[in-house]
Amino acid sequence: MIATGDIHVTRPWKIAIVGFGKIACEQHRPAIADSPDFQLAAIISSSAHAVDVPVFRTLEDAFASGLALDAVALCTPPQVRQEVCDLATARGLAVLLEKPPAATVAQAQALAAMGSSRGVTVFAGWHSRFAPFVEEARTWCAAHDGLHGRIEWHEDHLKWHPGQAWLWQLGGLGVLDPGINSLSILTVIRPGAWHLSGAAFEQPENADTPRAARFSLGRNGDHVDVSFRFAENTSETWSIQLRAENGDVLHLADGGAALSLNGGAFRRKANAEYAGVYRRFAELMRSGQCDVDTAALCLTEEAFRTAEITLVEPVTI
Ligand code: NAP
Repeated sequence: MIATGDIHVTRPWKIAIVGFGKIACEQHRPAIADSPDFQLAAIISSSAHAVDVPVFRTLEDAFASGLALDAVALCTPPQVRQEVCDLATARGLAVLLEKPPAATVAQAQALAAMGSSRGVTVFAGWHSRFAPFVEEARTWCAAHDGLHGRIEWHEDHLKWHPGQAWLWQLGGLGVLDPGINSLSILTVIRPGAWHLSGAAFEQPENADTPRAARFSLGRNGDHVDVSFRFAENTSETWSIQLRAENGDVLHLADGGAALSLNGGAFRRKANAEYAGVYRRFAELMRSGQCDVDTAALCLTEEAFRTAEITLVEPVTI
């Protein structure tokens, strides 16, 4: 984290959502409405209509209108964030980046540098890290050695990513776009230098990114096998299972909203990941810091760099 200047003293801060797609509508807008720290002041969109705040096609148009803003939430695909982040930070606006923060680690570092050099907050909001049982899993991991386990992150792309051409283009990550959520959890509950090996992708003939991916992760006595898969008409599996060398077992399910220890019954809590994202964004703005962690993005980048690719039948987008 990098300390920035002391700005944005009056709350609620006026925020604009940039890119009004699935995640902006379903998560950001309600989270902002419930936040004591933020007030939705505008939407920057080429397609949004029938919303109760001003809509501008570009951030420059919003600036030209004289609208005062303190922050923006970038909910566009990861490939197209540089220009808007540059414009926003140059005007002193804090920036929340949806996950993944950018298409590459180098791009994410460049976005962080825009914030730190200009003294404004840039925050990579890895939403899965705010799932209800992630903190308890982190405490469990800290108390255990020699972890072996598996991650299974399987979902129906037609349900979760309908019509999203960008997902299948370079930088869109394909199945690693949801899969990176599991890596964001793993790298926070078990921090350290994870290394990746044995990556294998199944890639549709009409795509630049995979619909299935397998690889192994290792770290100082720990070993985790990873399987990400898009499968149509199936329910989601978002699961991390770890067995410690003393035989204790942790199973995080439902993306971190359910936890079982040593084979016991699952405890479940309502998910409020985006409330956590906005609380953390506000903390960073108050303390004048940037937080752009790239641990999970480093691993997906390594998977793309090393994967053995098998071409499979075209995907329906
Ligand atoms: P989406 O439904 O495709 O929305 C993205 C929006 O970005 C579009 O609606 C469009 O908004 C804008 N945009 C700007 N440039 C674009 C371009 N070149 N191609 C496509 N859209 C462009 O995607 P999403 O699911 O909301 O995902 C956005 C980000 O949130 C991604 O980083 C993703 O990983 C993350 N995320 C997604 C989910 C999920 O379940 N889908 C969950 C958590 C996080 P306008 O039409 O308003 O201009």
